[in-house]
Amino acid sequence: MSEECTGSGSECDEAIKRLYYYLDGELTDARRLEISSHLDDCGHCLDAYDFEADLRKLIANKCKDVVPGGLKERIADAIRHDSID
Ligand SMILES: [Zn+2]
Repeated sequence: MSEECTGSGSECDEAIKRLYYYLDGELTDARRLEISSHLDDCGHCLDAYDFEADLRKLIANKCKDVVPGGLKERIADAIRHDSID
């Protein structure tokens, strides 16, 4: 048995579960330290962390760009009505 982390160990299960809290900043310093040292050792969990962190950044950026409700429809309607004539 290799000691290399395959991402299926219980340590990884815990780390992945806590990733979300980690990213939300809802963990104590001790827990954060535990996770970050696991991420240092475990490429699988680091990938999961990177993915989740990128996703959150993407969502945060998208939310800033969101057009106020209804505006998009009104614009689309205006364009549609224009092009019918
Ligand atoms: Zn892991």
